Amino acid sequence: MDDKSPMLELRGVSHVYVGRKGASLAVDRMELAVGHGEFISLVGPSGCGKTTVLSLLAGLFPPAAGQVLLGGKPVTGPSAKVGYMLQQDCLLPWRTIRDNAGLGLDIAGRRAAAERNRVEMLLEEVGLAGTEGKYPGELSGGMRQRVALARTLAPEPDVLLLDEPFSALDMHIKMQLEDLVQATLRKLGKTAVLVTHDLAEAAAMSDRVIVLGRNPGRIRKEIAVPEAIRRLAPTEARKHPSFQALFDALWVELNAGEREGGSHE
Ligand code: ADP
Ligand code: MG
Repeated sequence: MDDKSPMLELRGVSHVYVGRKGASLAVDRMELAVGHGEFISLVGPSGCGKTTVLSLLAGLFPPAAGQVLLGGKPVTGPSAKVGYMLQQDCLLPWRTIRDNAGLGLDIAGRRAAAERNRVEMLLEEVGLAGTEGKYPGELSGGMRQRVALARTLAPEPDVLLLDEPFSALDMHIKMQLEDLVQATLRKLGKTAVLVTHDLAEAAAMSDRVIVLGRNPGRIRKEIAVPEAIRRLAPTEARKHPSFQALFDALWVELNAGEREGGSHE
């Protein structure tokens, strides 16, 4: 990978969905660059194209126009370098926690002992030591999402795409997981793109927050998170004296974007 180019890049990317009701523009000429090890969030009203942007970054389908680059090279399809984590943990109930966490490796046919050891280490890292032989039905929602995190990290992706991974969880579990995810990704030097509708979560976790405008998706505003907040764990960041001002700035942009209208669903 070329270290001088951004880890992820969108160059003039547009995406059109074609359905029975005709074609609709979901992403409109988007430009975005995410640096190595950077953590960014995408926020914006429902339907503004956040998930579509993640799908394009993951190479799930090609953009209608423009280029998607990973480490300076065009993305042509899904890659083990990019991990994807969703709101649903998608754990398989008949597999143990260990086997769920190792699912990505199994699918890729990566069965070496070192790979197996990494799964055990990751489970320990996310606070699940001792649960390896259990089944998903025996775990709480927060623990299940930790398994999903270990599963996503096991194939050693450079980039993590996170689509509202905490939104189904209770507030305090969600905050614990925000800290855990941020600390783990930082330690491993991963690049991350988080989609969330929770502005405080975006502000507390990210280096930079991208506010998207209403459909068709385009970038309305980029807000850099001040260093003083960035270096703190999310639960601590929320208590920082300048956190409220950051939150308010995001809130203003988000609401201005809503008012500018377009179709309301
Ligand atoms: P968000 O994640 O911000 O809520 P999405 O990226 O899911 O937004 O969707 C952006 C727009 O594209 C919406 O108008 C949505 O209805 C439309 N869309 C998303 N997926 C499809 C699809 N598979 N087929 C047709 N339209 C879609
Ligand atoms: Mg979405």
